[in-house]
Amino acid sequence: MDSELSLTVLLNNPLLLPELRAIAQKVYNNERITFDEGVILYEKGELAYLGTLANYIREKRHGDKTYFNRNFHIEPTNLCVYDCKFCSYSRLIKERSQGWEYTMEEMLDIVKKYDGEPVTEVHIVGGVLPQYDVPFYSELFTRIKQHRPELHVKALTPVEYHYIFKKAKIDYATGMSLMKDAGLESMPGGGAEIFHPEIREQIAKDKCTADQWLQIHEEWHKLGMRSNATMLYGHIEQYWHRVDHMDRLRQLQDKTGGFQTFIPLKFRNQDNQMSNVPESTVVEDLRNYAIARIYLDNFDHIKAYWAMISRNTAQLSLNFGVDDIDGTLDDTTKIYSMAGAEEQNPGMSTKQLVELIKQVGRHPIERDTLYHVVTDYNDFEFADEPKPQFYKLPVIN
Ligand code: SF4
Repeated sequence: MDSELSLTVLLNNPLLLPELRAIAQKVYNNERITFDEGVILYEKGELAYLGTLANYIREKRHGDKTYFNRNFHIEPTNLCVYDCKFCSYSRLIKERSQGWEYTMEEMLDIVKKYDGEPVTEVHIVGGVLPQYDVPFYSELFTRIKQHRPELHVKALTPVEYHYIFKKAKIDYATGMSLMKDAGLESMPGGGAEIFHPEIREQIAKDKCTADQWLQIHEEWHKLGMRSNATMLYGHIEQYWHRVDHMDRLRQLQDKTGGFQTFIPLKFRNQDNQMSNVPESTVVEDLRNYAIARIYLDNFDHIKAYWAMISRNTAQLSLNFGVDDIDGTLDDTTKIYSMAGAEEQNPGMSTKQLVELIKQVGRHPIERDTLYHVVTDYNDFEFADEPKPQFYKLPVIN
C-alpha cells in the first residue's frame, strides 16, 4: 500500500482517538503540529500509527531515496576536561594512561591513509583538552585542505568551540569565522544531548548550555554554512523534554534554515556513570524516529546511525521517517562501540550498505556532506558482483 493510501485508511479508522486523528489530519494537510501535540504523540501514538504518519512525510519528501556517505573519522583524543554522566568514551585527565592524544602529524597521517580512496568527508570529533585550541584546529583544518582540497571537513561541536573560543577570549561570531577561513566546511550535530536545564544539569552540567549550543550554530548558519543536530534520548528525560529539545531546534531552523539533518542518538548504558538506567527498546527507538520526522517539519533529513542501533534496526527505521543511514565508517570511530553499541567493529563496504538499503525496497544514494548526489546505486552493478549463472539445458526432441 502506498504511504498516502495508508494515511487515508488510518484517517478513516473509526477507532482512532480524536486527538490522534486531528494530528494525522494536520500531517495530511501539511500543517505544523504544536508542542502539546508532540507530547500526545509520545504518550498515545502507537508504533503503527506513528510509522504511517512518518512514512507519509518521508515519502513525500524523498520517495524511496535513502542516503549514505563515504567518510572516515578522526577522534583526536578520548580524554576530556568534562565528565558527562552518560559518556562511555572519555577518560578524565587523571586517567590519562587509558587514553590517546593524537598529535597534529598523527591526525594528518590518518588523512593520508585515505589518499586515493573514494571518501568525500572527514568527520572530526572527540574529547576536550587544553592543547587542542584555536591555533591547533585552525592549522589542522588548513593542512587537511592543503593536502586534499576536495575532502569536506566536518568538525567539532559547540562543546569544543565554546571551550576554545573562551580560552582564546574571542566571541562566537569571530571564532566561527576564523574556523571557516581555516577550512571548516560544516559542523556535526553532537553535544546537544537534552537541552532542558532540568536534565542537562544532571547529565552534562559543565559543558556549554543549550543557549550557547544554539548560538554557535546560529553564528555558523549566518556565515551561510550548514550543520546537523542531535538529541540523546532514552535515559532520565521525560517525553516533554524531548519535545522541548526539538522545539528549540525547530525555532532556530525557522530563523536560519541552516540545519540539514536531525539525528536521534540512543542512550547506551555500558561503562558509564548511568549504567543503572535501562536502555530504550527498539519499539521506542522507532517511535522516536517517527515523532522526530513528524515534529521537525523544517528539517530535510532524519538520520539513523546504523553502527549505533544495529543494521536490522537501521533497515526498519527506513519505514519510520529515516532517510539517511550515515556512512561506511570503515571502523574509524570508537564512540559507538565503547558505549555498548551492537556494532563493535563498525565498518561496512559500500556494496554491503547498498544491499542493506535495497533489501528493504529503498533506493540507495551515495551523497556528499551537503546531500549532492555522488552515485545513484539503484541500478548500479558492482564490478566484483558475481553474475547470475545460466546453464544450457539439454534439448530433448
Ligand atoms: S560527552 Fe563529550 S564533552 Fe562529555 S565527557 Fe564525553 S567527550 Fe567530554
